[in-house]
Amino acid sequence: ILQVRSLAKAFGGNKVLQDVSFDVQPGEIVGLLGPNGSGKSTLLNTITGFEAIDAGQVLLQGKSIGALPAHRIVSDEGVGRTFQLPSMPTKMSVIEVAMAAATKQHGFWGTLLNSRAARDAEAAARAKATALLDELLLTKVRDLPASALSGGQKKLLGIVCALMGEPRLLMLDEPTAGVHPNLRNDIVSALKRLNEQGMTLVVVEHDMHFIRELCTRCVVLDRGHIVASCAPAELAQNERVLQAYLGGG
Ligand code: ATP
Ligand code: MG
Repeated sequence: ILQVRSLAKAFGGNKVLQDVSFDVQPGEIVGLLGPNGSGKSTLLNTITGFEAIDAGQVLLQGKSIGALPAHRIVSDEGVGRTFQLPSMPTKMSVIEVAMAAATKQHGFWGTLLNSRAARDAEAAARAKATALLDELLLTKVRDLPASALSGGQKKLLGIVCALMGEPRLLMLDEPTAGVHPNLRNDIVSALKRLNEQGMTLVVVEHDMHFIRELCTRCVVLDRGHIVASCAPAELAQNERVLQAYLGGG
């Protein structure tokens, strides 16, 4: 579903990604691992158009999306994503934020027109948001301003928003960091269920338990280079992975 070819990205003289190539097959759940600062978030940002790429290609189902802006990749190409540090500087309530995610992604600004179709669309978005908020245990806070949520709750709301657009490819940046361990299992179950329904996932994550439970394959970044692609069970035996984490290389 996704092909990344020789992708490069630098900030000033800092070469954050160099010659990064990897594929994600439909139906996979790929864990993206690597030490702090190895370029994982930057890789997600370049694939989803939030940062421009310097060189290389990104193909989604064979179509080049490397030059598209983020809103096109999200709304037209069906790629969902969350952010490592979600910010919700908004007075909108949690459920309004979730519903707005569907409105934006489907482009039915027609809600303003108060037509029957718009009301139906709004009702559908409300029903979907309600179900997703319930699944990620946010029902109790759904009428609070989104800015009032805790850090972990903002992460969960970020996942809800990404799912509102029913993406075919979902990219999550550390979905469980700062989230209570009990809830991590709920996130694993929810993501597995979405995967069974046909969604492909790429998950940046440091929690090895989460990775072993969820991922079908791991891609490991070290200082902007991909150093391994292997099953979660093989990570501990992989020399280059060990070097990356010991800072050797
Ligand atoms: P972590 O596990 O800590 O989240 P990461 O693998 O996601 O790390 P990135 O956030 O991709 O790492 O950062 C990789 C490098 O790119 C870092 O050296 C960082 O300072 C740099 N960097 C990222 N974004 C920018 C930016 N917008 N401007 C300048 N430098 C940046
Ligand atoms: Mg990061």
